[in-house]
Parts: sequence; structure tokens; C-alpha cells
Amino acid sequence: MARKNSSVLILGGGAWGLSTALHMINSGYHDITVVERAEQIPSQYSAAWDLNKIVRAEYEDPFYTELALDAIEGWKTPLFGPYYHQTGYVVAATGRAPPKAIHHLEKALSSISSHPTFAPEIRQLNGPEDFKNHTWQYTGPLTGFKGYFNRIAGYAHSADALRGIWEHCANKGVKFILGESAGKVVELLYGDETSDAGNAAFASSSTGSGPQAGQGQGRCIGAKTADGRDHLADLTICALGAHGASLIPSLGNFVVARCWSVAHVQLTEAESDYLRGIPTTNVRDLGFFFEPDPKTRLFKLCPLGTGYTNTGKDGISLPPGEVLPPPQDYIPLEDEQKLRQLLRETFPWMAERAFVEQKLCWFADTADSEYCIDFVPGTKQSLVVLSGDSGHGFKMMPSFGKWVLDLLGNKEQRLSRWQWRNTDSRGKDWSTSVSWRIGTPREVGDLVKAKSMMIKARL
Ligand SMILES: Cc1cc2nc3c(=O)[nH]c(=O)nc-3n(C[C@H](O)[C@H](O)[C@H](O)COP(=O)(O)OP(=O)(O)OC[C@H]3O[C@@H](n4cnc5c(N)ncnc54)[C@H](O)[C@@H]3O)c2cc1C
Repeated sequence: MARKNSSVLILGGGAWGLSTALHMINSGYHDITVVERAEQIPSQYSAAWDLNKIVRAEYEDPFYTELALDAIEGWKTPLFGPYYHQTGYVVAATGRAPPKAIHHLEKALSSISSHPTFAPEIRQLNGPEDFKNHTWQYTGPLTGFKGYFNRIAGYAHSADALRGIWEHCANKGVKFILGESAGKVVELLYGDETSDAGNAAFASSSTGSGPQAGQGQGRCIGAKTADGRDHLADLTICALGAHGASLIPSLGNFVVARCWSVAHVQLTEAESDYLRGIPTTNVRDLGFFFEPDPKTRLFKLCPLGTGYTNTGKDGISLPPGEVLPPPQDYIPLEDEQKLRQLLRETFPWMAERAFVEQKLCWFADTADSEYCIDFVPGTKQSLVVLSGDSGHGFKMMPSFGKWVLDLLGNKEQRLSRWQWRNTDSRGKDWSTSVSWRIGTPREVGDLVKAKSMMIKARL
């Protein structure tokens, strides 16, 4: 087991970095520093920087069903509970859904319908009337809708959860270094691979868990921030979400930064009250939405699709930086159309309203949707990478840090599915093979061009 007095540097104060800090401090580590480029948490660069995320346990793979079930128990504790809303979860496909969407829905349902915890909590919805009987606020035609309601699910207020766990960790003694200068990591620092420089706590084992050593650059001894300061540590944990490959380029061989659209409708107080308590609703061929946020009265929607990448000349996709600014308050037309269709089917009174706070939200995607929680090969277990959330990592926030402790305790990643991968899938487009994604993948650069053409056409 790694020593509890080791200095630990966590890069990134998003969902997984904070969960790791929480579990580490609770387990007795006491020298933990989180370095985060945003001025405050939640960070605008985090995939979880918005109102809410779905919390549900339906998975095609029972392994994740059990993990999500455990995480849901975590969401019900006093620490996480204020951010969890068990509104239930409606999953549907329209009468026009392609077979892939229907197949995914059926597989997700079968993953929980025979599960002892979920079985009594599921209600099949076999047509528009069933949906309306269940949720009286659905007033649209719900054309050909079929699906089910699962009571043990809902959503978590993601921005509030990040803020709450940040404050909790800071109160417990985790140090935070924040801001574009002091907190933005620009480089990982490596010592001489052959020397025993630094604390040997993490160097004692030679059983590298990655399939092949030598990919790192020797022992990682910390990180440099934009203000030029070196932060030395016995163990460095890289939890940069979609930005991971900016510091560990070989991660970009199998992890792709991909983004999805997010949009909101600004509701009045009365409208927000009217929709209070609606289930989180996921229409597999269109998109999903949540109960409105009572504070801001924003109603959040996300279209479902294959997302967009930003691939550089080296074949690695990273979120756009200063060179290619992401389009502001904009989502692609095809996504807007899907969301308007989703509203026409469910809440037609909202269907033509302006979308506000539109954005593209970046996450770290892998071909098999498996996470990567492992030591970076060739770094003598001095560098851990947490990546590959694949768009389903927020719900795991209450539990996630436990799995990092398991890695440190076992000195290797025993679950092959979460190991570092030596595959190089750059240039290969696997996004459409992911069972629940429908559509044609595109590059974000094309969206920027389309947006500027649209603006020029209007002038
Ligand atoms: C549109 C969308 C919808 C989603 N919906 C769901 C859902 O319904 N349910 C669900 O479970 N999950 C969902 N997810 C996925 C979820 O948001 C992610 O799995 C989760 O946020 C991953 O956490 P993370 O800590 O790995 O990354 P992040 O939360 O992105 O955190 C990374 C952190 O690193 C920081 N950082 C980046 N670069 C640097 C640097 N150089 N120096 C210092 N700090 C840096 C960032 O500011 C950020 O705070 C969704 C994601 C998107 C994009």
C-alpha cells in the first residue's frame, strides 16, 4: 500500500479529481494538493460544468450497472444527497427510431428488469397514453413512443456537487491551487528514470500494471504550472478529463476528446413550477432533458448523436484551445433540429422558444466506453491517469475515488478493462460502433466554418 504521508498532486478539480481527493483524505492521506486551471470550482472547462447529469444504472454491461447502483447509494448520503434528485428516469424511442436505438433501449431495460433492486421499480410504457398517464406534463403527441419508467434514477446537480465537494475537501485539509496562471498545468516533470530521485514510496513495486513499460518518460516528480512554478510530489494523478492528452500525448492514441451540444430554455417561474418533478427523460433517437433548475429556471436539453472531435495534425483530438476558439453560444443546426423535435413531441408549448446558454461540452471518449484508471507505463508508478469517462462518468462521483485507492493499494490495475491501452486508434473512426450513438461524426472545425458562413450570410 502506498504510504499515507506521501505527497499527492491531483491535476484537475473536476468530477474525478475531486472524488479522488475526497477518498484519499478520508483514507488517511494528508498531503494532497489539487491544481485546477479555473479560478473557482466548478471549472468552465469541466465536462460537468452545467446544471445536471443523468444518474441511472441501466447499462448493457452488468459490471457498470452494479457500480452505478453503488454510486446511487453514495448520492443518497448526507454529503452528496443535497445534489441528488431521484425524479425517476423515462427511457423511450419514438416510432421513427432506427433499429439501433430500439435495440439499445431493450438491452438497457433487460439489464435492470431482472435485477432484484430494480425489478419492482420499473413500469413499462407501451404507447403515448401510458407516457401521459405517467407524466401528466407531457402534452405533445409522443408519436409512437415506447419505453419504460425506472424509479431508482434521476439526476444530480453537477455544478453544485462539484462546488460542494470542493468546499468539503478544502475544509478537510486538501490544498487547492486555482487559476489560469497558478493552477494551469503546462507540463509534467520527470526525473531520471534510472535514479531513485524523489520519495520511493511509489517506486517500490516493479510490477507496472500497463501492458508495456517505457511509454512514460521516467519517474514523474510533479508538474509545472503556467506561472513557472514547479509542484513536486511523490505521486501525480492526472485527472484532466478531455484535456488529458495535452500532458500525456500517448493517452491520445486511445482516448479521444469529443463534444456534445447542450442547450437551455429560460422558463418563467410558473413554467418552472409546472414542470417540477418531471422524470429525467431520455428519448434515444432525439435527446434528453431534466426537471428545470428551480434557482435559475433553466430547462436543460442535450441532443443524442455521435458528437464532434477536434483532431490535430498528430491525429490526437483535444478540446480547442486559444488557436481555434469554440463557437460561443452556438450548437450545430442538426442538434437544434433534434431538440426542437424532442420538444414538439413532449412539450410543444416550448418548441419554438429561443435556446440560451448553448455550448459544446467536452469529454474523454474511448472506443469501448471503458474508463482508464491506471499507472502510466514507464513512470515507475509515480503517475496515475484517470481518463476515458466516455460520457458516463459523472454519476460515479461518489464512488470513483475508491477505485483509485484500489489501484494504489494493489499497485496495479487488476481490472483489464480499466488498464492503460497500447492500442493506437488515431485516424480510425469507431464512434458509430458505440451501441447508443446514432449519426455521423464530424470535426468541430467544420462547425466553426459553418457558423462563420451563417454569420456572413446574415450580414
Ligand atoms: C454534454 C455532456 C453530457 C454528459 N452527461 C452525463 C450524464 O448524464 N451522466 C454522467 O454520468 N456523465 C455525463 N457526462 C460525463 C461527465 O460529465 C464526465 O464523465 C465527468 O465530468 C468526467 O470527470 P473528469 O474529472 O474526468 O473530467 P472533468 O469533469 O472534465 O474535469 C477535468 C478538470 O481538469 C481541469 N483542467 C483541464 N486542463 C487543465 C490544466 N492544464 N491544468 C489544470 N486543470 C486543468 C478542468 O478545468 C476540469 O476541471 C456528460 C458529459 C458531457 C460533455
